[in-house]
Amino acid sequence: MTFTDLQLNDSLLKAINDQGYTTPTPVQAQAIPFILEGRDMLAGAQTGTGKTAGFTLPLLQILSDRKQPKTHRKIRALILTPTRELAAQVGESVKLYGKYLPLKSAVIFGGVGINPQITMLRNGVDILIATPGRLLDHVGQGTVDLSGVEIFVLDEADRMLDMGFIRDIRRVITILPKVRQNLLFSATYSDDIKTLANTLLRNPAEVEV
Ligand code: AMP
Repeated sequence: MTFTDLQLNDSLLKAINDQGYTTPTPVQAQAIPFILEGRDMLAGAQTGTGKTAGFTLPLLQILSDRKQPKTHRKIRALILTPTRELAAQVGESVKLYGKYLPLKSAVIFGGVGINPQITMLRNGVDILIATPGRLLDHVGQGTVDLSGVEIFVLDEADRMLDMGFIRDIRRVITILPKVRQNLLFSATYSDDIKTLANTLLRNPAEVEV
């Protein structure tokens, strides 16, 4: 199995090649085809399995294939992470794998000034990587518009619940457009994760590595 077998486009293949990756990891081999089909997904994968590229690569491909009207640029993909560190890391991956694509990404998290983030958001962002609290601060201030979100990713959902973010997550979900693709990644499956998965995901493909 190669990345070419996964039907990824040339811009992504070139970025993957620049990274020196030769073979998709198991979570990538399983998840990428389902995500490209537009399926919702419940994925059990720990850090270190290559899960970030597993959702980032197909997300970039879907957004670049599906053209948007240039006139009103809205956030098209929202990736929620539990911590600033993970948000920054996912943001780096999105930039790396998307370096040959004309998509803009931004990372927002708490503990730093909000004004530079507001400027970034105003300038137009296709892919937003955020921690829940700061995202909701922006929602409250009307500085983020989630009405154009096509793909919603919850990364390390179990850690988010452990950190007490369930109400924030539910709040975010109520703001998103009804029709969208949802991807939930979690290293473990508690009853709370199952409940969240049941309310969030529609006929999800299940991937376990
Ligand atoms: P993650 O589980 O997403 O945190 O990724 C773990 C590490 O694996 C990261 O440093 C990636 O750069 C690396 N990685 C991801 N996919 C591949 C691949 N197909 N081949 C080699 N390394 C990879």
